[in-house]
Amino acid sequence: MDVTASILSPAHRQLALVELAEQKFDLLVIGGGVTGAGVALDASSRGLSVALVEMRDWAAGTSSRSGKLFHGGLRYLEQFNFGLVREALHERGLMLEKLCPHLVHPIEFIYPLKHRVWERAYMGAGLFLYDTIGGAGAVPRHKHLSRVQVLERAPGLNPKGMIGGISFFDAQVDDSRHTMELVRTAAAYGAVVASALKVVGVSHDSHGAVDGVEVRDLESGNSILISARHVINATGVWTDEIQKLACGTSDFSVQASKGVHILVPRDKIDSTVSVFVRAEDSVLFIRTWGNHWLIGTTDTAWNNELDHPAATSTDIEYLLRNVNAVLNVALTEADIDGVYAGLRPLIKGQVIKGHSGATSDLSREHVVETPIPGFTTITGGKYTTYRVMAADAVNESLKQLNSRGELLDTPESNTQDIPLIGARDLDQATLELYDQAKSLGLRAGEMDRLLGRYGSMTRELVKLIKFRPELGQPIAGGGGYLRVEALYAVTHEGALHIDDVLTRRTHLSIETPDQGVEAAGEVAEIMGAELGWTPERKAMELQHYLDRVAAELAAHQVPDDAGAQAKRNLVKDVRLSRN
Ligand code: FAD
Repeated sequence: MDVTASILSPAHRQLALVELAEQKFDLLVIGGGVTGAGVALDASSRGLSVALVEMRDWAAGTSSRSGKLFHGGLRYLEQFNFGLVREALHERGLMLEKLCPHLVHPIEFIYPLKHRVWERAYMGAGLFLYDTIGGAGAVPRHKHLSRVQVLERAPGLNPKGMIGGISFFDAQVDDSRHTMELVRTAAAYGAVVASALKVVGVSHDSHGAVDGVEVRDLESGNSILISARHVINATGVWTDEIQKLACGTSDFSVQASKGVHILVPRDKIDSTVSVFVRAEDSVLFIRTWGNHWLIGTTDTAWNNELDHPAATSTDIEYLLRNVNAVLNVALTEADIDGVYAGLRPLIKGQVIKGHSGATSDLSREHVVETPIPGFTTITGGKYTTYRVMAADAVNESLKQLNSRGELLDTPESNTQDIPLIGARDLDQATLELYDQAKSLGLRAGEMDRLLGRYGSMTRELVKLIKFRPELGQPIAGGGGYLRVEALYAVTHEGALHIDDVLTRRTHLSIETPDQGVEAAGEVAEIMGAELGWTPERKAMELQHYLDRVAAELAAHQVPDDAGAQAKRNLVKDVRLSRN
């Protein structure tokens, strides 16, 4: 493994473009969400030569818009899907204990009870299973609480009708940072990775097998042909579009299901723990997220264009109505700092037995299919199970390659033993860095925050601060994020535009009441200096971000999906709008 290869700087991207045009790869992966990034790591760590291309920014699709939980899914226990829960809980343990403990943290929930005997017994039995089936130990076990104990921990809950509760643990993750770090780890194992490359065509050999793709570089407008022995389609809700390019047919298609989350400041709800409740359509999580409560989600079929899913006023009202039903305060729209919408890639028609067929009843299991030689699709599934999905997709591709006599003797997947780059040497780095926090002039708790985002790579940010102490200062209007984080996003984390920094490397676009508008000015200065932006380019990038925020806010005022999307689509992703 070569950690320097994990640096995603603009210069590295240029080198990657040359390699993509010149090499023939064993595997080419389309889609830089968690699934594609996981596939790239799985394959490159097994010694295959791998290319990974993403049309926008790393995690710009669903993988930055999830519920941000590594969880077994209590809901799936009720659906008797023990296999999925067991697998997901096993993954949760691996992430917490070994693969990325800096990014994934245990989080305590309370489930308030309303019915005396049966509900406590029913939920208690479910949580007993939850504690045991996936391998116990990574988080504390569930505990029964009296009404007084619940209200001591969560005084903000409405006590009316509550008879007690149960405390249990799951795990929370910063999804977009996790996906980006997976990409960096894959690059450290030799994968050639580049964002802003949109697949616009799929090529076939004389026997009809897929043997490469044509990509358009959305930064320059240039086209590149990339050759590969096998192509993996890991494009989530865009799966059908790539399948159409490759072969026109498939045994299944993807149904996008929209999920919306809102963020309100921590002081709006009086509680020290997160809360899990039943809502009108499904379940609702009210959970701590830095200085905010992250509340979600909705689950409704989305039948519109896929690039910019929009939250409607109906979605926001649904969340406020359901959260207010369990609180002793009435949150309003004015209390909301951030809103985001994401699309679940669900398999059409894969309805859980005995259920109605609403999107919340579609299975969360994944599908791997090879509709024509040289081309495998992996989709569905959950963020939590990305590692298993990745191994399945690579195994299927190897099976296909072996059947054509093209590749033999590749080792089994071993990503269960491959920590992400920020998890390497974490204990030693933590000791060293705690010692340095004071001399760097960092505020109390700042080093913990950095370690929780960068793990042992915090060392690199600290080096930058030592060299240029002004980088240790907070970004103006930037909710506590430091200037060095905007710079590092460009020099090491592949950020090319303001939205990449404000939405996915940091989360200022949903964590500040002005959606990061004030911070955008300073971020533009830092990015522009590093990327060589002219004053006109800087003004254009800044204006685009402000317009994007305005388009989203306008969408939130509209009650229906089509109307909200029309407002949101007035300002597309900066890459997609130029090409
Ligand atoms: P994506 O992240 O969408 O990645 C696909 C990528 O392909 C995109 O980045 C896209 O830009 C790229 N792409 C598309 N077309 C092209 C092209 N032509 N050329 C190049 N690139 C292309 N799971 C959990 O485990 N826990 C949760 O708490 C959880 N909560 C969720 C809450 C919501 C609201 C939603 C919507 C999902 C949630 N999920 C959760 C599910 C999970 O987020 C998804 O299953 C997962 O992120 C899907 O990842 P992916 O890589 O398959 O898709």
